[in-house]
Amino acid sequence: MGRVEGKTAIITGAARGLGRGMAQLLAKEGANVVIADILEDGGREAAEEIKSSGGKAIFIKHDVTSEDSWEAVVKKTLSEFGKLDIMVNNAGVQLIKEIAETSLEEWRKLMSVNLDGVFLGTKHAIRAMRKSGGGSIINISSVVGIIGTADDTAAYAASKGGVRLFSKTAAIECSKWGHDYNIRVNSVNPGVIKTDMVADMMAHDAAFKKKLESAHPVGFLGEPIDIAYAILYLASDESRLVTGTDFVVDGGWTAS
Ligand code: NAD
Repeated sequence: MGRVEGKTAIITGAARGLGRGMAQLLAKEGANVVIADILEDGGREAAEEIKSSGGKAIFIKHDVTSEDSWEAVVKKTLSEFGKLDIMVNNAGVQLIKEIAETSLEEWRKLMSVNLDGVFLGTKHAIRAMRKSGGGSIINISSVVGIIGTADDTAAYAASKGGVRLFSKTAAIECSKWGHDYNIRVNSVNPGVIKTDMVADMMAHDAAFKKKLESAHPVGFLGEPIDIAYAILYLASDESRLVTGTDFVVDGGWTAS
């Protein structure tokens, strides 16, 4: 208990799925949590759930693609909790479509959430954290940000590869070698984790679940808590030596 006691975290896309699991665990370990999402009902429910078990959380309606929305979220976080220590850029969308059938509009829509959202979140987190002496920024990539797959997810993979390398460069920019902000930046690269996003993918193709399970040497698909524990470590001071890494949590998928 208390591994992130007194720290304040913004988690985007925390109304459900991986983000909700992260919010629950960080709150349980003592953080003030800002649940930021376009989904109002799920977001409010997630904040209430944390408060009813004794944690500190607020919900803010937030669209990661809008810079005005980012300014409002950081402002409200600072007025509510005084500072920002942990930024988890988790919100993301998937697209399963062959490249030959993908429209430019679909490509740009995905990039606006998965890449513009991470850029804006990192930018506004740096602005807030450098004033209060540092922090930890964690950007959610994917195993498909590291390797190619045969799942018709090229646009998604391009966005996640971008998140991974953006995070490495941001890490150096914020380090002693760069502007000396005392801000660590890492990406987390999950394998397949059971959330609504994956349920949608499985609905798309009946044989898909078997195929996904067989991609993981451990023999099972992960749960949101498996990623939340990685976030907790990277958010806490235990990981003070860890910056610029791509933290893989994939049941051995990319080792094979
Ligand atoms: P999910 O679809 O269950 O949840 C995504 C959340 O992001 C939702 O609450 C949604 O409302 C929110 N969101 C979407 N667009 C938004 C926007 N413009 N502004 C604010 N919030 C927005 O997905 P998930 O499985 O929990 O995925 C979370 C992250 O993890 C994503 O970045 C995803 O790409 C990544 N990821 C997931 C898996 C997996 O297997 N589930 C694997 C690797 C990476």
